[in-house]
Amino acid sequence: MYADIIIDISHEKLDKTFQYRIPEDLFGRLTIGMQVRVPFGGANTLRTGYVVDITEEANFDAAKIKEIREIVEQSVPIESQLIALAAWMRRNYGGTMNQALKTVLPVKNKERLRQKRTVELAIGVPEAKNLLAEQRRLHHTARARLLEALLQHPQIDDAVVRQKLNITASVLRSLEEQCVIRIRAESCYRDPVAHLTRKDYDIVLNGEQQAVVDAIDADFQAGIFQTYLLQGVTGSGKTEVYMELIARAARNGRTSIVLIPEIALTFQTVMRFYSRFGERVSILHSRLSPGERYDQFLRAKNGELDVMIGPRSALFTPFDRLGYIIIDEEHEGSYKSETVPRYHARETAMERGRMAGASVILGSATPSMESSYRAARGMVRRFYLTGRAKSNSLPVCYVEDLRAELKSGNRSILSRRLQSLMEERLLRREQIMLFLNRRGMAGFVSCRECGEVIKCPHCDVSLSLHRDGTLKCHYCGYETEKVSACPVCGSRYIGGFRAGTQKIEELVKKRFPDARVLRMDYDTTRRKDSYEQILSAFANEEADILIGTQMIVKGHDFAKVTLVGILAADLSLGVNDYRAAERTFQLLTQAAGRAGRGERPGEVVIQTYQPQHYAIEAAKKQDYEGFYDQELAYRRLMCYPPVWNLLLIAVSSEQEAQAIACSEALGALLNERYTDLAVIGPAKAAVARVNDVYRRVLYVKSADYGRLVCAKDDMEQLLRENTWQKTGVQFDFNPMNGF
Ligand code: ADP
Ligand code: ZN
Ligand code: ZN
Repeated sequence: MYADIIIDISHEKLDKTFQYRIPEDLFGRLTIGMQVRVPFGGANTLRTGYVVDITEEANFDAAKIKEIREIVEQSVPIESQLIALAAWMRRNYGGTMNQALKTVLPVKNKERLRQKRTVELAIGVPEAKNLLAEQRRLHHTARARLLEALLQHPQIDDAVVRQKLNITASVLRSLEEQCVIRIRAESCYRDPVAHLTRKDYDIVLNGEQQAVVDAIDADFQAGIFQTYLLQGVTGSGKTEVYMELIARAARNGRTSIVLIPEIALTFQTVMRFYSRFGERVSILHSRLSPGERYDQFLRAKNGELDVMIGPRSALFTPFDRLGYIIIDEEHEGSYKSETVPRYHARETAMERGRMAGASVILGSATPSMESSYRAARGMVRRFYLTGRAKSNSLPVCYVEDLRAELKSGNRSILSRRLQSLMEERLLRREQIMLFLNRRGMAGFVSCRECGEVIKCPHCDVSLSLHRDGTLKCHYCGYETEKVSACPVCGSRYIGGFRAGTQKIEELVKKRFPDARVLRMDYDTTRRKDSYEQILSAFANEEADILIGTQMIVKGHDFAKVTLVGILAADLSLGVNDYRAAERTFQLLTQAAGRAGRGERPGEVVIQTYQPQHYAIEAAKKQDYEGFYDQELAYRRLMCYPPVWNLLLIAVSSEQEAQAIACSEALGALLNERYTDLAVIGPAKAAVARVNDVYRRVLYVKSADYGRLVCAKDDMEQLLRENTWQKTGVQFDFNPMNGF
């Protein structure tokens, strides 16, 4: 038996593993993640390393392989746990150990700590004044400028000196050498919450909240660690429950990780945690530089933090004495990684919790089918919060049938009821949100004569028409001028269906010319911070109406919003995906939850072509249980998750023949060795070509996740033994999106 060892955990060197023989007395004892001492280099000096893999085959001449000396017994560093977690992820989600390690271990890079540099005078004031006069006489303007500034402010930040005063590094160096100035360098952490000011914290939990806190805390104090599902309607105060549990854990010296979908990680959310935990909280988000990220991990490791908040990747914060992992909005699709390893943060959190002796709390108003199913079977303990913390009334919900609207002569995208409620709100100076369910919506251009749809020349998808008249591919970024004639029949009757947010904005402005309208979608939020800017503008009541896609559903709490309109609620039902109904129900419920967050009650209008669909009826009644029962029956009938497990095998290649050959070989292996599994395919992917790469899929279903893992291992073995040119294969367990 052999072990792969990494000597130094740093990102650049993760690829560099060294193989060692496992001595017989360590057989069965040595596990992935353990720290060991090994002879290293020509002089065989003893070094400490981590076991990252255990195999039966020697990678090179077995006689030359050195032997592991011993296991480091004393302390178990947090890295050991994270490496063991990486091994679990590789086994359960596929990919290589190296890819898994890069996901879980903090990125260490050259730029370790940012230095805060300040420039100050090293000579007395009279001396400096003399020197200033002399420099002026010599027309050394840069030096004179710096001396003048230092005479006014004895210490100046290095950045100011360079950028504002325009002093070059060589001038600074020469003045430093002449002992005229001193440059002080202090290491400091880049603290992403440093600019915030703390407010007082004065919330007292209500009875329902308190009962949940007491029950979970009682388990915690008794050393019982498990997974909880906190199912609480929107605005019921789940975040307050999390914060109270975190505070109690912190008093016991235990740390917590809070996962939030990136899009909901707004200033408002961060502020609430900061008010409660001050410097003991930090955040991770995609706009931090690698150096800033690394600093936050270092602070966590050094015991300077009680709480880390962030999206999916914050799950790997190197906290030593972990108490809670909290996943807010646990039903969100963004908790599933779309790059290898394609892990789900929920399952991975449960595994990390198990390893660390920590509890996991899943929170949502509309729990995923997976979590509800587990709760129903007693694998997860469920708590409910039934009332809103502040206003205590959920919004009134109307469903408007768009077919009936058309029949009665209303051709507008806004139903009559929505129009009249909007009028009322504008008069009362209350705010309105219009939500466009954009999933599955194309905005494509087609020929009215022959029906030809204008497609991307590199991908198997239609191009989308933008306001500036260009056609864009949302898969590869291809862009072209608007075509004026059909490429097939030459007809000039060619047009676009631009029922996107832009179109709605135009229509709303026409119908309500005096209303102030903001729009938030993919196009208006591409700039850094623009997302936050639009939301704060709306929060500050700089607009009456906010129009947007699913982006506007999360995050901010707008007290003045009393009307939410959901235009074309059923667009997401049309997509070819077994999660379509679940997603629609969740989106509608969350969107409706935006109304009436303040003192005044809210109303919601759901516009649809399918008013009888169970997802829409359940959303109208805010009937989670009703939806869950019906959806579970469908999943059971079709053998879909959460009742069964589904493995997607995605094959892509620049050469179509290779993609076909590879997918056929995988299919043959499955049909031969796994007769107990249901194999579907191989077939062309729903989008069969992207960026000139051909895509094919296989689906495998089984009630037993472990069988799918076995099949994956066998397929990985086959892929190691055979090569198909320019072909890649990815495994996706219980995928969130099709391929
Ligand atoms: P959720 O996370 O369930 O959507 P939040 O925790 O965001 O709910 O709470 C909704 C609003 O109610 C927030 O503004 C919060 O500050 C407030 N709130 C929550 N619990 C209480 C309470 N016990 N007393 C007063 N206000 C509360
Ligand atoms: Zn045509
Ligand atoms: Zn394209």
